[in-house]
Amino acid sequence: MIIRNIWCAVRNYREHARELSNPIPSEPFFFLKAGTCAVFPGEKIRLPVFSNQVEYELEIALQFNEHLSIDRACLALDLTARDLQLKAKTKGHPWTLCKSFKHACPLGPFFPVSEDLKDLNFELHVNGALRQKGNTGEMIFSPKELISYLKAHFPVSPGDLLLTGTPAGISPAKSGDRAEGRIRGVSEANWDIL
Ligand code: ZN
Repeated sequence: MIIRNIWCAVRNYREHARELSNPIPSEPFFFLKAGTCAVFPGEKIRLPVFSNQVEYELEIALQFNEHLSIDRACLALDLTARDLQLKAKTKGHPWTLCKSFKHACPLGPFFPVSEDLKDLNFELHVNGALRQKGNTGEMIFSPKELISYLKAHFPVSPGDLLLTGTPAGISPAKSGDRAEGRIRGVSEANWDIL
């Protein structure tokens, strides 16, 4: 299924909002990655040469089916050029450069889910070390709330992804890394950074 748009929830986990000193939002808010940022399992990932601080954000990505409901998901990396994001934030500029560069959204294999996504533990390991872990129960806005907000405001299409936000523990991405996303017993994603 073609991915036209990647809708990404911002600050949807309390601890992560705190680690970047951001206020807890009172309604969901989103930025976009181009659908063509998606990198499929087995494809190599190249980091942008114009950033010195690309970071991993491990997230659960939900995919809209032809009826615009959710029946599958995958682990995804919301790769972020943090240095450029900080610059953009100070200047009030948009986030396209720091969030929607080539290869900015590596995906794992899809697995079946229901819309409520209760109580899934997910983890990111980089070169064998645990970097980040979260539980879908810690989201500020539930997948249902994110989905209804998206549908009410944006032209959501079949195949689009919804990235549900990152828990605390973002960490730097380096050339040569092997990153592994895991939901025990459900899904494993392996990503090689060139
Ligand atoms: Zn994110």
